Amino acid sequence: MSGNLYLVATPIGNLNDITLRALETLKNVDLIAAEDTRNTLKLLNYFEIKKPLISYHRHNEEIKSNILIEKLIAGQNIALVSDAGTPGISDPGEEVIKKAIEKGINIISIPGACAMINALICSGIDTKEFTFLGFLPLNKKLRKEKLDKIKTLDNTIIIYEAPHKLNTTLLDLSEILEDRQVVLARELTKIHEEFIRGTIKEVLEKSENLKGEMVIIIEGNKDKYEHNNLNDLSLEEHYKYYEELGYDKKDIIKAIAKDRNVNKNEVYMQFTKNKKSL
Ligand code: SAM
Repeated sequence: MSGNLYLVATPIGNLNDITLRALETLKNVDLIAAEDTRNTLKLLNYFEIKKPLISYHRHNEEIKSNILIEKLIAGQNIALVSDAGTPGISDPGEEVIKKAIEKGINIISIPGACAMINALICSGIDTKEFTFLGFLPLNKKLRKEKLDKIKTLDNTIIIYEAPHKLNTTLLDLSEILEDRQVVLARELTKIHEEFIRGTIKEVLEKSENLKGEMVIIIEGNKDKYEHNNLNDLSLEEHYKYYEELGYDKKDIIKAIAKDRNVNKNEVYMQFTKNKKSL
């Protein structure tokens, strides 16, 4: 019988945030696949756990995931951990998880810290709906596309950023955000945990030369939801607007009909008439 693949969340700063179940799992598995084995070794030493480690990071994900799958099929139980937080969230993991699912291997999540969630709940910004964008791309074109998306998204937006790129990212955001609320969640769970709140301009002023790990939380674009604005769009643009928000076809038609105060069938008819395939 195949072994289990455990996705084990580890602390994002404060080591006391490790869960009892995470410790139990790390003690009981046959092997731990770690993003950086030296990092994980420090964690294991702290909790006096001795276990074989294998490296599993972005640059060897393809090869190492095949090796891990072979071991799982052979019956070994494996824990996957990243350097901090939840594996697979802006961290390696996806590759082996997909392959494990294909092979019918049991995947078990061992929940724990995740920087975006901890930042979000402390932000004071709407938690009901949010879009996590991870790190913004460095490639100019892709970055612009993401920034355009941030401009229109009406729900809370969460971004990860490395300290040395923070200023550039905040400057880029200042070009599109006007007076929306932004929260910089810094050094979560650590001694210098801090939340910097304000408009993008205010946050920029307060964040010069800031060090440490950061999550940026951005209030969604509320203006964009003004129905008058939406109704000024062409039907195709209106459709695209909801498509970018992640709505499926059925819900897009429903939303357009509601915005324009017309029957759903009328919207369908319009698209058919224009020979637009949805
Ligand atoms: N898998 C991790 C998680 O579950 O949050 C994220 C790993 S990603 C490579 C690292 C990024 O997460 C950092 O650049 C920062 O944006 C965010 N992050 C991680 N730890 C943090 C902390 N203690 N405080 C603030 N942000 C943190």
